[in-house]
Amino acid sequence: MLLPPPRVREVGHRCSPTDEGRTPVATKTVTTYTCDKCGRENEEVRTYTVPVDGTSYAVDLCPKDAKPFVAAAAVAQEFGHRLSGNGSRFRTTVLDSDPRAVRAWAASHGIQVPARGRLAKSVVDQYRAARS
Ligand SMILES: [Zn+2]
Repeated sequence: MLLPPPRVREVGHRCSPTDEGRTPVATKTVTTYTCDKCGRENEEVRTYTVPVDGTSYAVDLCPKDAKPFVAAAAVAQEFGHRLSGNGSRFRTTVLDSDPRAVRAWAASHGIQVPARGRLAKSVVDQYRAARS
């Protein structure tokens, strides 16, 4: 999941002109992390990007409220299908011919094939045609 930087909010106060003559109060900038669900500030709040039906949502959650998301992500990683960047499933071509047999056949017929990787469909088709 992509984690954008936390939101930064300024707390404390700056001296206004009416404060003239008074001792200036130091201004300090504090980075706060607020859970979007329970609204509590927590140092351990993280931003989670959750894709829902093609739209991504970013939600800042404390560890307690993030539990269902972390659990769902674990299930997705273990049992789901990885998607490509545009959201479509990676397609795998089912090759019912043994690649080694296709390579051996191609070599014996003077057809050049790469030693590794995907075999050209045309080569596989020729192999199938020759075997049928
Ligand atoms: Zn929370």
